[in-house]
Amino acid sequence: MVSLVPAAEFDARFDAEVDVLVVGAGGCGLVAALAAQAAGAEVAVVEKLDRFAGNTVLSSGSIPAAGTRLQRAAGIADDPDRFAADLRRVAGRHDADHMVDRLAGISAELVHFLLDRVGVDLTLITHYRHVGHSVCRLHAPPSRRGADLIRDLERATEARDIPVAFGNPAVALIVDGGAVCGAVTKADGGDTARIGAAATVLACSGFGNSRALLDRFCPDMAAIPHFGATGSEGDAVVWGEALGARLGNMASFQAHAGVAQPHGALVTWTIVEKGGVVVDDAGARFADESQGYSAFAEHAARHQRPTFAIYDRRIRDLTAAGQPEFGELVDHGGAREAATVADLARLVGCPEARLAAVLASADAAARGEAADPFGRTAWGLAPLVPPYVVTRIAPALFHTQGGVIVDTEARVLRADGTPIAGLYAGGGAACGISGRHGSLGYVSGNGLLSALGLGFIAGRAAARRAAAAKGKPATGRSPTATLSPASNASPHREGI
Ligand SMILES: Cc1cc2nc3c(=O)[nH]c(=O)nc-3n(C[C@H](O)[C@H](O)[C@H](O)COP(=O)(O)OP(=O)(O)OC[C@H]3O[C@@H](n4cnc5c(N)ncnc54)[C@H](O)[C@@H]3O)c2cc1C
Repeated sequence: MVSLVPAAEFDARFDAEVDVLVVGAGGCGLVAALAAQAAGAEVAVVEKLDRFAGNTVLSSGSIPAAGTRLQRAAGIADDPDRFAADLRRVAGRHDADHMVDRLAGISAELVHFLLDRVGVDLTLITHYRHVGHSVCRLHAPPSRRGADLIRDLERATEARDIPVAFGNPAVALIVDGGAVCGAVTKADGGDTARIGAAATVLACSGFGNSRALLDRFCPDMAAIPHFGATGSEGDAVVWGEALGARLGNMASFQAHAGVAQPHGALVTWTIVEKGGVVVDDAGARFADESQGYSAFAEHAARHQRPTFAIYDRRIRDLTAAGQPEFGELVDHGGAREAATVADLARLVGCPEARLAAVLASADAAARGEAADPFGRTAWGLAPLVPPYVVTRIAPALFHTQGGVIVDTEARVLRADGTPIAGLYAGGGAACGISGRHGSLGYVSGNGLLSALGLGFIAGRAAARRAAAAKGKPATGRSPTATLSPASNASPHREGI
């Protein structure tokens, strides 16, 4: 459990001092570090895990941005106002309204910074307009893998000698008269280091891996497995509450209804978009599958019964041809064929007559002959034709979208709206822009926009604070000499 420690307890004698201390080596933390250093600050990053293994690694690495030169080259007219309007249309009003224009406004500058100053390889996705966006504006690594985004950020931090101390979680924030002035880290072996900093950036993700915080803020999600990174333990929420920070959008999250059982791989929702349906172990449908994988996960979590995606061979083979990861699931027996409804019912373990009636009702809706009982109107290639295919699936939580509320300079705000001096936050640690509740307010890329966008803002703002504070006598040593040897460990670069 993380905590606060008064600087007076050790007479503000730090083991090391740095201008900007970044807590967490995900997309937010690395961009904050690079932006702060580019603005002239001495920076160090501390990371809980022994390698880069945050949510950014698990993501597709796609960053939405409006008005970039890549868009212009592709003939796409876009601007921050249009982007902000898209975000507001989907999310409605929420606790971080003031951040919508700010993040849309810096998005192009962020992408140009990543391309030109950091050397991140990004291309504009033009073959598909992502959910919620009125134009193509997602900029992603050519591989569409967050692991490659992190790899490029890692190379940049190495090239600039920014230390990233793996296996060194921040366990306490150091406070001095209401201001935050660094953090205490504790390495695996038990060694602690008190790192003083003019500015501390919380880039330590959300609370998807904290059962206690999920119980409080997203109770429906507490009962389902967590598919996100293990480091997302809600440390920023705990520190925020201890410091009197205002929390926002705490019931907002992203989940996925299609984790293949027992394989554990994600089943692309394309199989549903192309006409598949989802039934429970009684053979009954229980919601409109076309709402999307995250919204459907909410229904599945509440339904609390085993679930099965039912589609057909055409859909399986078409999807596998375009999405290799789904093809791997098929190769590993995760998409079983059934020649008849009777065979299908046996695989699901439900009464044949019930399943036959449910499929007939879906077929009629797909043909436009009857209204769907759940209101579904998008049916892709349906009606389904034998042979049918079935995959047992279960919902899982991806990431939370609530956190400490920050201002447009990424400063963490108290309940009364005043900033907590020296403390900045971004990414999963901060209040997101995806609505107050559930998952319907999320626009594709919101996670990384908040992570990298706020990291960019926080890094520069933190560097300005450090520059303003310069002149104070330095009492500590360089952080690289002080942090645990784990800081020198070669990061494990396992992919998604
Ligand atoms: C499966 C999956 C797919 C996703 N796909 C997308 C997508 O396609 N597009 C999108 O925009 N978003 C996506 N997201 C969400 C997106 O990945 C996150 O919103 C974003 O990566 C958050 O970045 P971050 O830097 O805040 O957190 P992270 O990348 O999780 O980094 C936080 C780091 O802080 C470390 N940490 C935590 N506590 C401490 C501590 N006390 N001390 C030191 N270090 C600490 C963690 O170990 C971690 O390494 C996805 C998420 C998941 C789980």
